[in-house]
Amino acid sequence: MSRQGSRDTAPEVAVRRLLHASGLRYRVNVPVPGMPRRTIDIVFSKAKIAIFLDGCFWHGCPKHATQPKANAEWWRAKLDKNMARDLETTEHLTTAGWTVLRFWEHESAANVAHCISESVASKRPTPPRPPSGPGLTEGGNSGNQS
Ligand SMILES: [Zn+2]
Repeated sequence: MSRQGSRDTAPEVAVRRLLHASGLRYRVNVPVPGMPRRTIDIVFSKAKIAIFLDGCFWHGCPKHATQPKANAEWWRAKLDKNMARDLETTEHLTTAGWTVLRFWEHESAANVAHCISESVASKRPTPPRPPSGPGLTEGGNSGNQS
């Protein structure tokens, strides 16, 4: 089993490879701004997108989280703390204007990479669209009157 905070897990490497192949450039293992002891797995700093690939065990994946029998209470507390910390990190970044994407390590790398590139694309600066909506119809009452 990989230890907590281990770097470059297999799913992470697979996702990174796909992102790189699709031409995206990013940084990895970047300290969370204002929380230097925590790290973001993949960062698009210009777009302010932070990506976390969470291990199923350590982060309490609803599908695969297991409850160790020995020292059950200690583990429960430990894992609860991890999850609370994840939430806190997400909120911290969101408040600072970041987009936070979290994925489970069991998710397919292709899917994850796809979601990430969509998100990055949507963050690219685009010229503002003119407002469209109802209320711009003209005339309408110019019927013939006799
Ligand atoms: Zn899982």
